[in-house]
Amino acid sequence: MSDFFKLCSSCKKPIGFEQSYYACSVSTCNRKRTGLFFCSLPCWEAHLPMMRHRDAWAEQVRSPSRAEFEREQAEDAAAQERAAQRATPEAQEITARNEAARHEAVQRALGEDESGAQRAARLGVVKRGAETMGLPEIDDKDLPQEILIVASKLKKYVRARSDFNTSDGVMSVLSDHLRRLSVEAIKAAAREGRKTVLDRDILSVLNNISYRS
Ligand SMILES: [Zn+2]
Ligand SMILES: [Zn+2]
Repeated sequence: MSDFFKLCSSCKKPIGFEQSYYACSVSTCNRKRTGLFFCSLPCWEAHLPMMRHRDAWAEQVRSPSRAEFEREQAEDAAAQERAAQRATPEAQEITARNEAARHEAVQRALGEDESGAQRAARLGVVKRGAETMGLPEIDDKDLPQEILIVASKLKKYVRARSDFNTSDGVMSVLSDHLRRLSVEAIKAAAREGRKTVLDRDILSVLNNISYRS
């Protein structure tokens, strides 16, 4: 077990247990597994130019005690173990069947202007052989469908950008979008044999989505 909680993401000095440190307010710097940790305000400031944040602040946080930290790590390991056990051959077969059905539905739903397979491939929804191998079969409706957007921050952004208001319904649509995006990114990570979703998995999905400007 380690003697410290985390290493500072800037200066690499250890951040001990039950000690205050700084986290970045921007969600991409704050993820559970890939989050950044800073031992001091100057170290937090040092990452700003690199990440090109528009609107960020440092949040002072207290690191857990060693016992809390170790318990959390043990829980994570147990959860990974359970997920691996759920990926039985039967589960993989169900996944493959679901994928095939979804693929068919996508093809049906797509127009004639472009072949269904082409469009599906462009959107990254086509089944690619072993892409879901090893992934546990989980029905999305069994998972929490909570709002993943910080409504006040999004509204503030839209307001700053356009002076427009944002309806609350936007948050649930965007949350569903993030969930779908996450599922595709999980598959991208699985295809590379990883158990960590990286920023590049998200980017590879996003690169297949075109925004009209
Ligand atoms: Zn530091
Ligand atoms: Zn940041």
